Amino acid sequence: MSASHFFSNDYFQARNKFVKTINELKDLGNQVRHDELILDCKGPNQEDLSIDIATIGSIDSDNLILYSSGIHGVEGFAGSAIQLSVLEQLKGESPITDYCLVFIHIINPYGMVWHRRVNEKNVDLNRNFLKVHQGEPEGYEKINLFVNPQTIPSKIDFMFWLEGVNLILKYGFTNVKQWIAQGQYTRPMSLQYGGNKLEQGPELILDWLKNNLIKTKNIFAIDLHTGLGPSGYDTILIQEDIKEKDYQTLQSMFGSHLTQLDPTKGVGYRVTGDIHSGFVSFLPNFNWLCITQEFGTFNPVKVFKSLRAENKWTQYNKNCDKIYLKRHWSRRNLLRIFNPKSIKWQKRLLDRGNKVFFKAIDHINFNIK
Ligand SMILES: [Zn+2]
Repeated sequence: MSASHFFSNDYFQARNKFVKTINELKDLGNQVRHDELILDCKGPNQEDLSIDIATIGSIDSDNLILYSSGIHGVEGFAGSAIQLSVLEQLKGESPITDYCLVFIHIINPYGMVWHRRVNEKNVDLNRNFLKVHQGEPEGYEKINLFVNPQTIPSKIDFMFWLEGVNLILKYGFTNVKQWIAQGQYTRPMSLQYGGNKLEQGPELILDWLKNNLIKTKNIFAIDLHTGLGPSGYDTILIQEDIKEKDYQTLQSMFGSHLTQLDPTKGVGYRVTGDIHSGFVSFLPNFNWLCITQEFGTFNPVKVFKSLRAENKWTQYNKNCDKIYLKRHWSRRNLLRIFNPKSIKWQKRLLDRGNKVFFKAIDHINFNIK
């Protein structure tokens, strides 16, 4: 099957393919359960939007892989494609009995439908998995006007370069990167807003895990993203406070792809309220081993510039019509930045997505023996 086959044109098509493929796995003898977590927000024609969870294999076993996509809605095109290609591979394998796979398909369907990274309240859900939502990075005030300009940016934006270079010279690249990306809980219309309470999607997911994973002991969690790092290359990001033993395990599995979430090393930066630290803090009774697989698309300045332009157009445009905004250049640009239309990129994405997923399965099988 060609790579482009797994990439969908919109959320609804992606969802249909997901449901169809898990049903095929069921027909092949797998234990499959499908839960739809329906959200209050709706699609353009008042369609229901849901987070779909597929449970494959034995939910009563000790070991589980939790494979999630689309927490940043617009990145869901890539995340869904990887999940679909992995499910397709599983169709060729014998039914899973010794462990369990849980696929969370598109955590932020609103963002995927409207080609935004955030949800309907401008909340970055990967900054929202917290018990308390308050504060902002110490330097956010210093960069706020640059990150969130009061005027709507045009396509050609000379001031962006001038102001950006000034800030980097004044405060250093590492600091500026960290302040922009960390997450803030004070400015609902600005970038990297993490909300003022747990959003509906994260709450439903945490409840689902709490209520359904009764016998699970060990969870290997993989969350899929795009936008950071060299084009087509995947960085495996891990938590800063990872135990030495777990670090060694992941190092032996993923080698040089592994990077800690430290702003002074590699492409990463520290974030607050990301999904994995949320899992660990809300559900501390499981043994967690968490990785974020992040696929590079374009250079970071281009990525940031497109996020900044899209947010400003969305917040300050006088024409609030959602369809108009979805067709606006800033939104179309964002879609391409996080979901490049390149066959070469798509092939690398699926290839590495599969490699990492099946390494996680090998890891589980090794532990079972
Ligand atoms: Zn992301």
